[in-house]
This record gives sequence, structure tokens and C-alpha cells, in this order.
Amino acid sequence: MSTRIVITGAAGFIGSHLAETLLDLGCDVIGIDNLLTGDTANISHLQQRGLPPPQPAPAGPIPRGDFTFIKHDVTNYIYIDGPVDFVLHWASPASPIDYLELPIPTLKVGALGTHKALGLAKAKGATFVLASTSEVYGDPLEHPQKETYWGNVNPVGPRGVYDEAKRFAEAMTMAYHRYHGLNTKIVRIFNTYGPRMRVNDGRAVPAFMSQALRNEDVTVFGDGSQTRSFTYITDLVDGIIRLMRSAGNDPVNIGNPRETTIGEIAETIIRMTGSRSRIVYRPLPTDDPKVRQPDITRARTLLEWEPKVALEEGLVKTIAYFRTKVR
Ligand code: UDP
Repeated sequence: MSTRIVITGAAGFIGSHLAETLLDLGCDVIGIDNLLTGDTANISHLQQRGLPPPQPAPAGPIPRGDFTFIKHDVTNYIYIDGPVDFVLHWASPASPIDYLELPIPTLKVGALGTHKALGLAKAKGATFVLASTSEVYGDPLEHPQKETYWGNVNPVGPRGVYDEAKRFAEAMTMAYHRYHGLNTKIVRIFNTYGPRMRVNDGRAVPAFMSQALRNEDVTVFGDGSQTRSFTYITDLVDGIIRLMRSAGNDPVNIGNPRETTIGEIAETIIRMTGSRSRIVYRPLPTDDPKVRQPDITRARTLLEWEPKVALEEGLVKTIAYFRTKVR
């Protein structure tokens, strides 16, 4: 019998890539999403895999799993019929403008949604994987960030709704592990980019690409000296799948340690798109982290994982996607 996996937030950027890769590996996937920031366009091509195969079955590639989609808000009780091997809890608004516009849904899905997803995993005896974030480190005072760093988060600032929800989610996950003996994993995801990011989600890569492709001003916040470390989506998914198969329960950073300034990434995107855009500077959002870079020693050691896709290679693929979306 094939492995059956529930993914909350399956219609989102990362959730949909995870679903697709796991289906390719032959797993059956049940995707749940309330479509608040997710989009069925990200998963509509997966639905066809659930249809009965043509008769006679064509000789060809590996059998793929079945995909089922359920539109549901996971802050409410999640009912799934039959066995479940893994619950991957990916549902959450994840871009700063989304969680500023949706502060309460962000807190609810991190708190109540994590509780419901953990409850499902416990009821099914499934392994639980939490999508956590480098935001748990806040505006970090340790650089690069190791998993042992406790973070520097402002609980009452505008980003606190996301950071604290994810910190609560990590605490809840560890409580289910320690108290209920649930097999749990926590992945701390650093800035990730690739096809299926929303054109208007406001994050640096989609913002700069859509502005550059329209030859509009590219809006760098602050003086552009703040740093981020960008991971291409396929590298992240590879790390998550290795984590699912691993033995440990401690949080693991998955991110590309190549650190760049936001000014540099803006210039690179302008150059690679052949754009006539110029850079304009806008106020830095409150509590915007000044630096961010993962220490990936733990992922290297425990998962034998490291990123394979170079920044420019990932940007080429992402620009190709945005060319099809930006008008
Ligand atoms: N940023 C920017 N211009 C934009 C969008 C973002 O300069 O149009 C900056 C933002 O202030 C931050 C960095 O780019 O310093 C990364 O922002 P993003 O929203 O992608 O994610 P974050 O890492 O802050 O969660």
C-alpha cells in the first residue's frame, strides 16, 4: 500500500511543490487549503492524476500517486477517512504583506491550525512535520543562525503575529512529541523562491521580478544593505523529504547559506531580465531583520543535504515563470 500524506496549505507555493514531488514518488496526497492565500491554479494539474488510468495502461514512467483536494480551514476540526502516514502542516499566510493584512488568521492557523493538524497526526499515528521559519530567529543577534539560537523577536511588533505563531507552533509540536510520544519534525525554512510565487505577494523576489519585467521602478526597502539567503524551491523540497525520512525530532534549518544584500538581488534581477527599471528606495518596514543566513551544519550532518541550485540558475527558471504571469 502506498504512503498516504496529508498536506495542509497544499495550494500554496511550497505546499503545491511538495505535493507534486511526493506524488511523483508514488505517494497518495490529500491536500487541504482554505484558499486564503493559496490558489487552485497551483494544483489543478495534480488533480488529473487521481483519475482512473487509461486501459490498457500505457507502458511508461513510474506509477504516480492519487491526489485529493479538500477545501477546508484547518483551524477547525480536520476529518480524514482511512490511514495517514504523514501530516505536513504548511498552511499559513507567509509573506510579510499577507500576514500584516491577515494578522488574526495568521495567529489562528499557527496556533489552532497546528493543534488540529497535530491532533490528526496523533489520531492516525502519523509522523508530523511542521513548516517553521527563519522568522523564529527574529532580527537575529547571532549570525549565521544555528538551530540552538533562541531568537530576537518583538512579540508586539507587526511581524510578531507570524513569528510568535510559528514559535507557538514549534512549542506545541514539541509538547506533542514529549507528552504524546508523537514522531514530529520541525523544518525552519529560510527565504525560498521559484515558480508559483504570487506576482503580488510583496516578497522581494516576486516584487522585483514583476517590477523589472514591466520596466517599473524596483522598490528596495531601506538602503538595501539588509541581507537574505535565497533557496530555490527544489532544494527546499529535497531537504523536507530527507527530513521526513530522518530519525531526529529537533528543528532543522533548510536554506541556502549564500547570503546577498537586497540591493544586490534587485540589481541582479534587473540585469537578468534585461530591464530598463531603476532602483528606488522606500522606508524599511518595522522590525525588518538586518541579516539572515542559515547555518546548515545540522542538515548536512543529519540529512546529508545541501543546496544544489545556484542563485542565477534558480532566478533564470523563476524569471521564465514570471514572464508568463506578468502583464
Ligand atoms: N524588500 C524590498 N522591496 C520589496 C519587498 C521586500 O526591499 O518590494 C525587502 C524587505 O524589506 C526585506 C527583504 O526584501 O528586507 C526580504 O523581504 P521579503 O518580504 O521577501 O521577506 P522577509 O525575508 O522579510 O520575510
